[in-house]
Amino acid sequence: MARNDNGTGGKSNLRISFEFFPPKSDEMESQLWETVTELANWNPDYVTMTYGAGGSTREPTLSAVKRMVGEMKLSTAAHLTCVDASRNEVRAVVEEFRAAGVRRIVALRGDPTTGVGTSYVPHPEGYQRTADLVRDLVAYGDLDVSVSAYPEMHPESPSIDVDIDTLKSKADAGAHRALTQFFFDNDIFERYLDKVRAAGIAIPIVPGIMPIQNLTQLKRFARRCGASVPAFLDDRFEGLDDKPEDRAQVAADIAAEQIADLQRRGIHEFHLYTMNRVPLIAGTLERLGLRPRAANPAEAAA
Ligand code: FAD
Repeated sequence: MARNDNGTGGKSNLRISFEFFPPKSDEMESQLWETVTELANWNPDYVTMTYGAGGSTREPTLSAVKRMVGEMKLSTAAHLTCVDASRNEVRAVVEEFRAAGVRRIVALRGDPTTGVGTSYVPHPEGYQRTADLVRDLVAYGDLDVSVSAYPEMHPESPSIDVDIDTLKSKADAGAHRALTQFFFDNDIFERYLDKVRAAGIAIPIVPGIMPIQNLTQLKRFARRCGASVPAFLDDRFEGLDDKPEDRAQVAADIAAEQIADLQRRGIHEFHLYTMNRVPLIAGTLERLGLRPRAANPAEAAA
């Protein structure tokens, strides 16, 4: 298999980033900050904060990244979509991110506001394609730009080749890496990565790992994203409907096994979808032999 080495090597063989989403209520807000504070102790390379397509979470995303960068000193990527916005509107958001100290962007088109599965119509004064947004962002000269990738292809895509062409256009526009949609079958990822490399795309393709909080909800979500949910997951969770603690153990086992298998295949960098919760992420990383930095330096000395 083609290696996914980005040549950075360094502090640990296993490199991680965490994805969060902006809170929708006061309760979710305190949960988010507890989660970010705790997960920061696991030494992520960077964290990311999603952005509602069409700017629907512009303020909460901005206020969250301001706190992550300003107060918490975390290297933070702001997601940014260009659907339903003029270039000037998108650039105004980028300026706000930059003024807040953000130097990483996850550049996305976003789902059409008419609904997933309907066709994308660019804003008359907007970006025709995500690659155009990437090119604009890269032109700032000081932004690290990530893009999306879809190992099982995007639901709008007529074929995997079209999907890979879209990824290539983003890489050619200067994207620094791609973060993938979640997947559970590493053979699918391996075949995808081989095709990506054969298409001449050299940027790191970082697997998106989704620890499973709830298999039923995940199946619903996966259908919309075009991600498959293999039958072995039903087997692993069978009989655990009323056993949340056992379910959490199994979910962490599955995510850790997936990462360990990808490591054996030469992949060392992973993007974890946290769903703004600590336990499954911490459980997964513990199983991989990682330990959090002690929150209290006295603990470290003990
Ligand atoms: P693109 O990569 O531009 O295109 C997606 C696919 O559509 C292509 O691979 C291709 O198959 C097809 N396609 C595009 N253009 C054409 C064309 N001209 N002809 C034929 N086919 C075409 N959404 C949010 O709203 N907020 C977020 O914060 C967010 N974060 C995400 C993070 C990650 C890591 C991922 C994987 C997805 C995220 N999304 C987010 C979802 C994303 O916005 C949707 O999947 C959206 O529908 C596509 O955006 P994109 O940037 O992936 O599109």
